[in-house]
Amino acid sequence: MAFLAARSVDPVPSDPPTVQAGRRAGAILTVDLAAIAENYRLLRRQAGRAACAAVVKADAYGLGAARVAPTLARAGCRDFFVAHLEEGLALRAILGRGPRIAVLHGAPPGTEGDCRAQDLVPVLNDLEQVAAWRGLARRRDEVLPAILQVDTGMARFGLPRADLDRLLAGPDGLAGLSLDLVMSHLACADTPDHPANAEQHAAFASLRSRLPGVPASLAASSGIFLGPAFQADLVRPGAALYGVNPQPGRPNPMRPVVRLQARILQLREVAAGAGIGYGHTAVARRPMRLAVVAAGYADGYLRSASGRGMAFAGPHPLAGVGRVSMDSLILDVTDVPPEAVPLGGFVDLIGPGHGVDALAEAAGTIGYEVLTSLGARYHRVYREA
Ligand SMILES: *Cc1c(COP(=O)(O)O)cnc(C)c1O
Repeated sequence: MAFLAARSVDPVPSDPPTVQAGRRAGAILTVDLAAIAENYRLLRRQAGRAACAAVVKADAYGLGAARVAPTLARAGCRDFFVAHLEEGLALRAILGRGPRIAVLHGAPPGTEGDCRAQDLVPVLNDLEQVAAWRGLARRRDEVLPAILQVDTGMARFGLPRADLDRLLAGPDGLAGLSLDLVMSHLACADTPDHPANAEQHAAFASLRSRLPGVPASLAASSGIFLGPAFQADLVRPGAALYGVNPQPGRPNPMRPVVRLQARILQLREVAAGAGIGYGHTAVARRPMRLAVVAAGYADGYLRSASGRGMAFAGPHPLAGVGRVSMDSLILDVTDVPPEAVPLGGFVDLIGPGHGVDALAEAAGTIGYEVLTSLGARYHRVYREA
């Protein structure tokens, strides 16, 4: 009966095995693969003549690279980026031969052979990585593909100008390497009028002119929306594929990808003056009805959203009350018709009325962190492309 009640609140479209597991689940995370494919196509159109890669690091931002990456490949993506070599090895097993897989951190010293063995392309971020990859090329008497990252003003990854000068002036230079790409990364692309964007663009134009004929890449999700000058030959979106707004403060052009539904575990009435949750950080100002639902900070529902998060039961907004616990959080259902919040039913913690960015704002963070924190206990449902 509890599950029937849940279905009457908001059915999770699912096949029979999923219904079984869904019955046991405390919370259900639905990932819309069709929306990811559509977001990919939208970004590719937005990128004009630039090719569109996909960044699937951190298990496709927490959504599951094993399902997300093949979806993107079927949508036409031929270039994938991960952060770590291990992620690249796993992704090669998922995608098979064919797509280019680039490893943003390059290969840790001594593991260049592993990188090469699975046809992964390292992003070379410093002179040591360049020398190590060149050394492998020499030992194997092969020309090896590589991506060179230059730092245009983020002080994170890539060769600063002086190192690029040294490299190109040195005796070995890029011997044995075939550069697939020269790339850099923008620090402030989500703030279109930030002066750093134009500065980094100018620095990149100057650095890439030292490598004539090598394709170039500067833009991630937000950079794509800075216009054609920033799109270069290849764009590298991650977050926008997964529904995060690449233009904060403006309407989100991306389709939502994630829905998180948590089950109502308890319903209770409390008197005015009752302390609610750990630390009694909330106190009932009037008689209240509360719903305790099955998601907490151990599931990546960030504790910093305590008292500021929001859920929906169909059209009804529900305010979070008191601290987020490890396995649960408390919602105010005082003014909601009881049939909208049945015991055992589900409410949306992330959904149509309250997206990833809205939850992030409540938690004082960004959509990226909400996604990459999504917990392992959620029952996952993938909606096929
Ligand atoms: C993570 C990352 C991206 C993707 O960034 P989004 O903002 O998620 O689109 C692109 N390039 C580099 C170097 C990155 O580290």
